[in-house]
Amino acid sequence: MFCSRCGAQLPDGAEFCGNCGQQVADGGMGPVSVPPAMQPVPQLQTAPAGRKRRLVAVIAVAAVAVVALAAVAGAGLYFSGPSTGFSGA
Ligand SMILES: [Zn+2]
Repeated sequence: MFCSRCGAQLPDGAEFCGNCGQQVADGGMGPVSVPPAMQPVPQLQTAPAGRKRRLVAVIAVAAVAVVALAAVAGAGLYFSGPSTGFSGA
């Protein structure tokens, strides 16, 4: 058999390539055959969560903008009010 990564010739039954270290257990001789189909499953579950997080982020940004506007308006009222008293004192 040959390494699927570097193409080095390996003895039959070898689980790892002696040249590059690539796992080459694709002959089905041993029980070492983890199906890679189990890995993309959590990625599909994170897709809707990312959408929800994006919506939450938009709402948070809007809330921060409203708070900032209120703070600016409040500061403007605060500084326009006591400013005359401060200058007088
Ligand atoms: Zn190799």
